[in-house]
Amino acid sequence: MISKIRHPEKVNKPHNPIKKKPKWIRTKIVDSQVFFQTKQVVNKNNLVTVCQEANCPNITECWSKKHATFMIMGDTCTRACAFCDVKTGKPNGLDIYEPAKISNAVKTLNLKHVVITSVDRDDLEDGGSNHFYKVVSATRKKNPDTSIEVLTPDFLRKGDAYKKVLEADLDVFNHNIETVPRLYASVRPGARYFASLELLKNAKKFNKKVFTKSGIMVGLGENKEEIIQVMDDLRSAEVDFITIGQYLQPSAKHHPLNRYYYPNEFKELETIAKTKGFLLVSSSPLTRSSYHADEDFRKLQDARNKKLECHPHQ
Ligand code: SF4
Repeated sequence: MISKIRHPEKVNKPHNPIKKKPKWIRTKIVDSQVFFQTKQVVNKNNLVTVCQEANCPNITECWSKKHATFMIMGDTCTRACAFCDVKTGKPNGLDIYEPAKISNAVKTLNLKHVVITSVDRDDLEDGGSNHFYKVVSATRKKNPDTSIEVLTPDFLRKGDAYKKVLEADLDVFNHNIETVPRLYASVRPGARYFASLELLKNAKKFNKKVFTKSGIMVGLGENKEEIIQVMDDLRSAEVDFITIGQYLQPSAKHHPLNRYYYPNEFKELETIAKTKGFLLVSSSPLTRSSYHADEDFRKLQDARNKKLECHPHQ
């Protein structure tokens, strides 16, 4: 049988051999019943997760805690970012039963916190924001005590469409900046650095109560000054939470990995980010945007409450 190529759009890209992972990147294999329960719920409801689609190294650990990140609007993205392992192509139509499927899965898994993300849907007039709204609203209705985090796609070409997502009752609005501006053209060719910043800034303006969050990957060829500039830019957009993790090259046809950062470099970046005034910083080799999102949400709430105690008029 001829196996299908996962990234036909990348076959003519240069061949970038994958560098051997250092020992601090190896993930733990967790053999737990809960992992299989999570898998069962995902399969039974025919759900798509970014954990599987992006081949995330943390899947055994996260799923063993029932923490899966649901990817809505299909498994096929209209963009072809050079770092991403999600399939590119012409997506299918939207599944009208998806709001019910996601809200039921959250209920079955009894989640305290859920992260919902999606592929980019440039083919849809509103980028999928109405569908996003429906999924979040159904999830909220069925799970009133669950905190909801959305990791949104790029609404660059869709004007105010992102506002629809913010009309839903959500707790965290996450949109990843991914890399430094100099590398945008090669890493996220369909996106614009300042448009992503603007999106984060506007999200906060539109819904003051929501926590805003963004993340970058390191190891793509950026330098320290550029990372610090991104931190400053995110703070000027009033972003509350930054995540910093190591880029892992999915295949030889993806963006080349420039280097692996040492654990102490992640610590250093964490210290710098903290001095910039983020409410929360997560920086480690295996940090991903949705890694430990449930625990981090509680930390965010504590940090905001503490800040309000010290500065009650903010
Ligand atoms: S880090 Fe996020 S994407 Fe990776 S397995 Fe955990 S929840 Fe899924």
